[in-house]
Amino acid sequence: MHKTKSKIYFITIALAIVFLIVNYLIYIYSEWLKSPVFILIPSLLVISIILIYLLNKNVAESLDQNQDIDKAKNDFVSLASHQLCTPLSAISWYSEMLLSGDGGELSKEQRKYVQTIYHSTKRMILLVNALLNVSRIDLGTFAIEPELTDIRSIAEKVISELPPIIKDKKINISKKYAENLPKIMADPSLVKLIFQNVLSNAIKYTPEDGNVDFSITKKEGNILIKIKDSGCGIPEEQKSRVFTKLFRADNVRRLETDGTGLGLYIVKSILDYSGGKIWFESQENKGTTFYITLPLSGMKKKSGTKRLG
Ligand code: ADP
Repeated sequence: MHKTKSKIYFITIALAIVFLIVNYLIYIYSEWLKSPVFILIPSLLVISIILIYLLNKNVAESLDQNQDIDKAKNDFVSLASHQLCTPLSAISWYSEMLLSGDGGELSKEQRKYVQTIYHSTKRMILLVNALLNVSRIDLGTFAIEPELTDIRSIAEKVISELPPIIKDKKINISKKYAENLPKIMADPSLVKLIFQNVLSNAIKYTPEDGNVDFSITKKEGNILIKIKDSGCGIPEEQKSRVFTKLFRADNVRRLETDGTGLGLYIVKSILDYSGGKIWFESQENKGTTFYITLPLSGMKKKSGTKRLG
């Protein structure tokens, strides 16, 4: 328990005991104060203070222990993820070389196997990266470094770099940008991470030939980003869990799409730290709209030793 808090408790208990003894002596020696109330009330007082102290001590100790365990868990995840990055990159790199014919011609069957290795490794790299990001968020070690940033050009870049699997779905992406959007003080790598997550979700959870409308406007002191899709939507009874760690709704599990359930937790944490907001409207089998705001006054700076990526 906190040292000064314990001191206060000890002083209070000591005073209460002194008070009880004085009352007891008065009770014994005084002729005119023979009421048992003079013993009963201070006794109850001392007992309740001791009980409150013990209860508080237990709660504080278990909270401290839980915090220690959480920190140890986060440290472990951070270390394990970091160590996994190197071998995974090597597997990905060599399977890419094999696929491009650097190790000689591959038979049709060999190519199929190497392709599976390549795609599984890419998925694992995404998962390890997300775990690393989550541990940096939970440990509070990640930094937000705002600089003058053109939000629109980051969005354009993210859309043009969307992975081919997503492009293959032939989703019609329509874009709308307000005229004269000002540059704002924002951390470009974090804005990119936010766009990558929400845009790839919109496309991932929308069936072939569906629509995604993307817009950036100005509203009430903020930059408002809107991503509307015509996808599977989020079941009503699971909406409250969308921003929690490892959540994947039942309807998307059934579709068997790739996913870690960590993306929106990361996005929400970045926005919470930086003064932005995220919320959504969704109807199952109709579609989902995510709204994100970033203050025109800029993202709040946060010092930290690690970057999210
Ligand atoms: P995931 O890696 O599973 O996409 P996220 O944290 O990005 O993890 O999203 C959490 C869950 O929220 C998803 O698994 C999905 O159930 C739901 N979700 C997020 N975006 C959408 C969307 N645009 N349409 C439907 N469901 C969505």
